Amino acid sequence: MDEIESLARLFEKFPGIGPRQAKRFVYALLRADASYRTELVERISKLARGVTRCTLCGRFMAHGASSKCSICNDTARNQKLLMIVLKDADIESFEITAVFQGTYLVLGTLAPLTEDTLSTNLKNALKRRLAAATVSEIVLALPVTTDGEHTASLVRSALSTLITEGTTIATLGRGLSTGSELEYADPQTLRNAFTLRK
Ligand SMILES: [Zn+2]
Repeated sequence: MDEIESLARLFEKFPGIGPRQAKRFVYALLRADASYRTELVERISKLARGVTRCTLCGRFMAHGASSKCSICNDTARNQKLLMIVLKDADIESFEITAVFQGTYLVLGTLAPLTEDTLSTNLKNALKRRLAAATVSEIVLALPVTTDGEHTASLVRSALSTLITEGTTIATLGRGLSTGSELEYADPQTLRNAFTLRK
């Protein structure tokens, strides 16, 4: 395999990137300044060292003085309201809507890929979060797909043994189209889905 193909294969691993787009990235890099390529290589190699996960919500954040992210540390946020999302990008989408003022928990992966690991990791993450502050409502904001719904049922069963009486579990209202990922939903759709949670 030549250099173009080898690099294109790596780009194909990015979400939503097919072989043709991957090639376009490679050609764009070939046309770019050498300084751009050098900076890109340096940034990528520093990325893992400079980034860590929030110990409370699991979100990626820059290494700093705190082990918690800016949202978890924000005292103005409603700690009693917890939204469970699949990935960091879903948080970004919800933050744009400004409709949600609670805190998050990032699941990171969907069932059934690693059902056992998911359950164990999930239980540990939930335990940590529920121990940190009282939660009165949990909103499941997972993709409207077969895997997403299967994961939501796993989360519900894990929660049933962890939550105290009086804590409610809601799912986003179905303004979201089937098969959709939250990341790609527009702000108004997300706002409605949150307002119509049940
Ligand atoms: Zn956090």
